[in-house]
Amino acid sequence: MKVRVDPGICQGHTLCAMNAPELFALRDEDGHAYAIDEDVPQEQEGAAREAVRSCPERAIDLS
Ligand code: SF4
Repeated sequence: MKVRVDPGICQGHTLCAMNAPELFALRDEDGHAYAIDEDVPQEQEGAAREAVRSCPERAIDLS
C-alpha cells in the first residue's frame, strides 16, 4: 500500500498526523502534511485508512 498527500489540496489541519503519527508529518515551511514514507507498513494500514477518513480536504491518496 502506498500513501501520498497532495500538497496542493492539503490545508494543514494536522488530523492525519494525529491519527497516524508514524505515517505523516507537517512541513515547517508551509504546515502542509507529507508522507514520511510512501510505502505503508502492513501494521500501519489501518492507521493510514483512518487518516484518509479524517482528512477534511480529501488530500490523502491510498493505492
Ligand atoms: S488532515 Fe488532510 S488537509 Fe489536514 S494536514 Fe492532513 S492531509 Fe493535510
